[in-house]
Amino acid sequence: MKVITFTEQHVNTFLLSLGNGWCLIDTGYKQQEKRFWENLKNNRIYPDQIKYVILTHHHADHAGFLASVLQKTGAKLISAEGNRMRIAAGKNDMETFISSFPNLILSKLSVAFVGTTQCFPPVTAPAIDPKEQPLKDYGIFFKILKGHTECDLVVQVGEVLFCGDLLMNGAGALKLAPMWIKNKFEMVKSWEKILKITNVKTIYPGHGKPFSVSLLPPAIEYWKQKGVLPLSSRK
Ligand SMILES: [Zn+2]
Repeated sequence: MKVITFTEQHVNTFLLSLGNGWCLIDTGYKQQEKRFWENLKNNRIYPDQIKYVILTHHHADHAGFLASVLQKTGAKLISAEGNRMRIAAGKNDMETFISSFPNLILSKLSVAFVGTTQCFPPVTAPAIDPKEQPLKDYGIFFKILKGHTECDLVVQVGEVLFCGDLLMNGAGALKLAPMWIKNKFEMVKSWEKILKITNVKTIYPGHGKPFSVSLLPPAIEYWKQKGVLPLSSRK
């Protein structure tokens, strides 16, 4: 299957060819919308050729201009029920843990600019439940996991798994872990589940370059031992 990747401000969005149209995985931050339409035009894709938009999870760098894309393309949204309240609120879940001390400092700085980095226009459009495997005829399969957030949707296409931020590569990643970790134990469990998905050889993360699934076992061992830090100090 043909995959086009747009990378803006360290955020990846993917377009999967359906033959008779395209399926978009995630958007970027809301301020990246203009670049998105330019990228689309440069690839000679018209807005109405986007038939589906898959949302991996509710964060502002993935759902940033989702409401606008749905409106301008007429595409159907595929998003897990567990994200419904969060995307309707248009705000990141801030009750989370952070992978390391440097990333905690970075996250606290980004939280200080809460309006631009943690919020996005609310999405109340009806969504297709990925559990129904609505794109199985195209060879696209869904699995709902958790750990990065309470509800992380991963998308399998043959040997490739699009994992949202459940795994992260490149800047800010620590042994494949994302900066924000809702629940480390669930994250490790989800990674073990990913290893059991037959055929998957390559992971396409929401941030950073694709990588081999063979990097997962040592990362799992590391994160079984490693602790995390709360984003906000609790009383
Ligand atoms: Zn995220």
